[in-house]
Amino acid sequence: MIPAQTFANKKVALFGLGGSGRATALALKEGGAEVLAWDDNPDSITKAAESGIPVGDLRAADWSGFASFVLSPGVPLTHPKPHWTVELARGAGVEIIGDIELFARERTARAPDAPFVAITGTNGKSTTTALTSHVLADAGRDTQMGGNIGRAVMTLDPPRADKHYVVECSSYQIELAPSVNPSAGILLNLTPDHLDRHGTIQHYASIKERLVAGSETAIIGVDDVFCVQIADRLERAGKEVVRISKRLPLTDGLFADGANLMQAENGRFSRIATLEDIGSLRGQHNAQNALAAIAACMKVGLSPREIQSGLDSFPGLAHRMEQVGHKDHVLFVNDSKATNADAAAPALSSFGRIYWIAGGLAKEGGIEPLRSFFPRIAKAYLIGEAAPAFSATLGETVPYEISGTLDAAVEHAAADAARDGSGEAVVLLSPACASFDQFKNFEVRGDAFRTAVNAIKGMQAIGG
Ligand code: ADP
Repeated sequence: MIPAQTFANKKVALFGLGGSGRATALALKEGGAEVLAWDDNPDSITKAAESGIPVGDLRAADWSGFASFVLSPGVPLTHPKPHWTVELARGAGVEIIGDIELFARERTARAPDAPFVAITGTNGKSTTTALTSHVLADAGRDTQMGGNIGRAVMTLDPPRADKHYVVECSSYQIELAPSVNPSAGILLNLTPDHLDRHGTIQHYASIKERLVAGSETAIIGVDDVFCVQIADRLERAGKEVVRISKRLPLTDGLFADGANLMQAENGRFSRIATLEDIGSLRGQHNAQNALAAIAACMKVGLSPREIQSGLDSFPGLAHRMEQVGHKDHVLFVNDSKATNADAAAPALSSFGRIYWIAGGLAKEGGIEPLRSFFPRIAKAYLIGEAAPAFSATLGETVPYEISGTLDAAVEHAAADAARDGSGEAVVLLSPACASFDQFKNFEVRGDAFRTAVNAIKGMQAIGG
């Protein structure tokens, strides 16, 4: 745990007592702050009180006495409307911050030279965070990973110059971290998402920009128009910018040339690493993730040899194009994290003969954006509430069945793929849907897929 010493003897209000909220409250208490915590959910309040967190109704509190208000990133600041605590804090002129801000202040106060890589973007955050952390740890660095992935930041080890912090930041967390100052800030990509919460794409982009604007070195994926503008703007302002591209040869920066990951300096090229045969980093989107991780690792002094070793041994993340088994010529891939069409596109573009399990709770637009991949789909197996709508989109172009359940879909897809004459087939769960109609979350859905796959006779399980 990181005791929040920069808040010693200060009165701090805190709202949102989920896992990270409780960890933050305890870190504040340990650092010597006088905390008053609350939640809209009585069960969360009880649980917090049991772990020794002072709780009290913030409606009844004297807000003029608080130095800071710590808010859980899940709670709306503006959209669709500000939470009641936000209005009270604003009314009293109390700063509103989150746990990443607490972490940044502790690091700045205690070990400003401790390497701190912060990662954001619309897609690929978790993969890039896990990969960066893995490569650093593989090279023998003392690595602490947390934030939006895994552990809450305030549960990591206290800042020390030799500790390397790799922190995934959602836009909600960045909004609550005004002085976040990573040594390397990564912005992978920007496409419209979470606009229910952030209003316009411009506002969403400006929040993400803050993370790289505050960093010593800004690592920016320049494969979309918003990120290109941000990179140009920061460079004009004098910031050190490292551009990365998964498809364009750059004259300065890092780019992918097929499986080769290249560095360009004033038009001179050198190969840093290769992704050949790395199954866990398959697909062009993963070249973007790998390039970002490489840029961050180079910033903290890793050699190309150390980087290659880390890439080669990266096991990949569960539920993101995760290979779970194979039987004869058929590979079984769990991409349960693909909860919308955009996220399903990388998997569909990475394979040829696809027996595709899709469906669940559909997002707006359904699978319409995936039309260009339809020729790769040998057959679709539709599950959940989205099945009728998806079948209408597939229409005459793609053979499909309405399987209903995931178990039936796996069984039928495996049987059909086994008969595929092309010599290389993939049974792919990449649902392009939320899971909540049939599963608790995407992890439970992915686990159910793995279980069903492993139950097939003769299956050679991978990982797990
Ligand atoms: P996040 O943490 O940003 O949600 P993940 O690494 O968990 O990202 O990946 C989520 C989904 O997005 C996966 O289905 C994956 O195939 C896809 N994806 C991963 N990296 C990228 C990228 N760089 N660009 C576009 N899509 C990506």
